[in-house]
Amino acid sequence: MSFTPRNTLPIVISGGGIGGLACAVALAQRNFYVVVCETAPQFGQVGAGLQVAPNALSVLDALGVGDQVKQQALLIERMLMKDGLSGEEIGDIPCGEDFIRKFGNPYAVAHRADVHGALLEACRASAPYVELRTNSRVTGYTLLDKGVSITLANGESFPAAALIGADGIRSCIREQMVHDGEPKPVGAVIYRTLVPAEKMPKALQKPFPTLWAGPGAHLIYYPVRDWTEFNVGITVVKSVEGVTEGGATLDEAIEAFAGWTDIPLSVIKLSSHYQRYVIRHRDPIENWSDGLVTLLGDSAHPMVQYIAQGAAMALEDAICLADRLDANDGNYAKAFQEYQKIRIVRTARVQISSLMLDRIYHAKGVERLVRNAMLQERSVEEYYDRLAWVFAAPSYVANWKTSVPA
Ligand SMILES: Cc1cc2nc3c(=O)[nH]c(=O)nc-3n(C[C@H](O)[C@H](O)[C@H](O)COP(=O)(O)OP(=O)(O)OC[C@H]3O[C@@H](n4cnc5c(N)ncnc54)[C@H](O)[C@@H]3O)c2cc1C
Repeated sequence: MSFTPRNTLPIVISGGGIGGLACAVALAQRNFYVVVCETAPQFGQVGAGLQVAPNALSVLDALGVGDQVKQQALLIERMLMKDGLSGEEIGDIPCGEDFIRKFGNPYAVAHRADVHGALLEACRASAPYVELRTNSRVTGYTLLDKGVSITLANGESFPAAALIGADGIRSCIREQMVHDGEPKPVGAVIYRTLVPAEKMPKALQKPFPTLWAGPGAHLIYYPVRDWTEFNVGITVVKSVEGVTEGGATLDEAIEAFAGWTDIPLSVIKLSSHYQRYVIRHRDPIENWSDGLVTLLGDSAHPMVQYIAQGAAMALEDAICLADRLDANDGNYAKAFQEYQKIRIVRTARVQISSLMLDRIYHAKGVERLVRNAMLQERSVEEYYDRLAWVFAAPSYVANWKTSVPA
């Protein structure tokens, strides 16, 4: 591949998660030279399942990796929600042909590493437009007359054309720009595990996620990795004072489920060991750019995971940002302003909607009965209409043309 980039100094992306890598691929497709600085010794994603909504698949399609992700993922038949106390079905959204026609893509569940891996491969295929650096923790930036100086934890500093902070919920670029400290705990914990498929009762091995909602807790499980494992996530509303992240026992994970019906309890008992995470978020902000520096993904708009859209929003950011940089060739600060103007309302709406699902999923008493009645009487068309604002690809994604660097 010849190397004739539009920029002499690189655009630096701090953080090689799903958002950072997607942005690198998109920028390379518009002939920008990008350096991704990742703090970890290697690129990769720990964790388990990832729900990949149609709007996220539309971004992956646009970047040319959609087919690879879809081949490794499970394209689900439906989304099912049940009441954890009564066992009754309260919501059923079919994800077949009508769904695909409406949103342009199916809904998938995948292993997080498969989505990240597809983007990493695309970055490697985009060399020398994309340069990947590991063991490179970015600690801050200094705005220069022309460009921005990037500082790494090893003391190295180097000039860049612009900086994109894609360094996650505890972003140090955001801290320098916004000064809003640690992300706030929302008062809930998630326990996660992967269960080998042979342990999951045959009757529960369904080609879709099942979500059990109950007072103060919810449980979701679905198959990943070609049905060899089931991703199990248990969210519990509780005080998180003094709670740390790390290993947790079954006794702790199951504590909040007294009085629940048998099936969710039997799924929780399939594993004796869970990983505990404190659920955090930040309130939406009106500005996430500082001249030649901007934020992307969780560093810009971290959200609780109830709506399963955090990675999807990071992916959409990536295309929108590359599209604006392409349109404003060389004027990075203007491009960043246009990008955040387009993205802030959409991502803030997802942040806020996500928090609101806490009340739906974890309702108790009469609120729970109201929730059940409300969702049970909703038609499939009504569900689709209510989901359209988030699941349909925004114009900058739908109009993006995949290309290889020239
Ligand atoms: C329990 C849970 C379940 C979720 N489920 C879903 C789901 O089903 N669907 C969905 O769409 N979203 C989901 N999300 C949200 C999703 O995981 C995140 O929104 C998404 O990973 C954000 O991607 P990112 O690239 O912005 O940040 P991250 O994935 O956090 O990546 C940041 C990267 O930056 C690196 N880094 C950090 N600091 C520095 C530094 N100073 N210098 C250099 N590198 C640095 C990190 O090592 C990391 O590689 C879930 C989140 C949680 C917590």
